[in-house]
Amino acid sequence: MADATPALAPWLQQQLQTLLHRPGHAWLLHGPSGLGQYELALALSKAWLCPHATGHGACGACASCLGFERRTHADLCALMPETHAIELGWPLDEKTQQDLDDKKRKPGKDIRVEAAREMVAFCQTTHLGDQGQVVLIHPADRMSGITANTLLKTLEEPAGQTRFVLTTDAVHQLLPTIRSRCLSHAMVSPSAQEALTWLQAQGVPADQAEVLWRASGGRPNWVLDRHRLDGLQAEAWSQWPRQLARGHAGWLEQVSPTEGLASLQKLCHDLLAVAHGAPPVFFRPEELPKSPSARKAAQWAQELQTLIRHAEHPFNAGLQLQAWVVRARQAMRPD
Ligand SMILES: [Zn+2]
Repeated sequence: MADATPALAPWLQQQLQTLLHRPGHAWLLHGPSGLGQYELALALSKAWLCPHATGHGACGACASCLGFERRTHADLCALMPETHAIELGWPLDEKTQQDLDDKKRKPGKDIRVEAAREMVAFCQTTHLGDQGQVVLIHPADRMSGITANTLLKTLEEPAGQTRFVLTTDAVHQLLPTIRSRCLSHAMVSPSAQEALTWLQAQGVPADQAEVLWRASGGRPNWVLDRHRLDGLQAEAWSQWPRQLARGHAGWLEQVSPTEGLASLQKLCHDLLAVAHGAPPVFFRPEELPKSPSARKAAQWAQELQTLIRHAEHPFNAGLQLQAWVVRARQAMRPD
């Protein structure tokens, strides 16, 4: 069972209040990753289902809220890839759980079309509570064209009182037909001061929070996830560019290929900025090795862009990492 949902960050709480005051049966929460789309979608769903909700959100104490916390609310349908469901503590159906336990297959990284069909059937059943039903789709960009088409009609004309909240950090990957059926909400970033105060309240020490906040490019939930899940320490981040220039993978060894490539892109961005005489964003100037020429850095940036499209393909992770380090070292060698 998942832990009770922690209090929303103040900037998410403000966005929740804005959304609760606006009519609309389908919201698309979009913006760069790490801004709290999922947390806001949860709070909105919970408030929609709570019979005692106010303009500030759900009451947090009624049967509906408790059912929501336990992930067993009968009027809630959460549509997400199996990988996300496992990571976020959502139960899988019995058959899926059995198949995964028996290692018949790996957890799916996309929302399965079967799950979307079940969601459509869910919307056609009578809801149990007085608050109607809620469908949470996270993240909506993990739907194939077929899966997305399955839910178009339901999204446009839901039977009874069904509300939808969709999240994404890749809005350009959604079908225009999905986008046009939703009201759109662009996620708001907190100020540095707000974020640092909040991160410290979440247990990230002040000296760590400052470095990791810079590393995040302004995404508070990224800091929390990297700190808690990947054990990223400020020191590891600060030392990483120079380690990499000497041929050591460093912090890349701790993270998923997608996250590793994103880190390489941040480093490459900063090298390119310095080469053009601009200040770096993700690192302090003294943490960077001597910048290569702008031409060399730009070429590396382009290669990383291509790699990121294939980051989740099941290459040999060790070999892949080695190749990235070799390439990074070459790109960072001063001319
Ligand atoms: Zn409640």
